[in-house]
Amino acid sequence: MGKEARRGIPAIARKMKKLDAKISDTSQAPKGKEYFYRCAACGGVIPSTPRDNVGCECGNIFIDLDYLRLAVKDYTKFEVLQAGREDK
Ligand SMILES: [Zn+2]
Repeated sequence: MGKEARRGIPAIARKMKKLDAKISDTSQAPKGKEYFYRCAACGGVIPSTPRDNVGCECGNIFIDLDYLRLAVKDYTKFEVLQAGREDK
């Protein structure tokens, strides 16, 4: 299953660090090009600013662009990842 599970995860996601923020409401979730959301249940990673409606495979996390809304069913399985900045 190893390779299968990694499919669809952008390369950038593997370099990201997990934010420690305790998020209990979608309004607290940071948004931006450098932020990604990860579902701990299925391992899916989705961008916080997608171009289309997107959700993880198990449906725990979903972004509905029509309503500019992020929906999370189980916050204990919701993680925010931030792409590492390249400090020069
Ligand atoms: Zn999921």
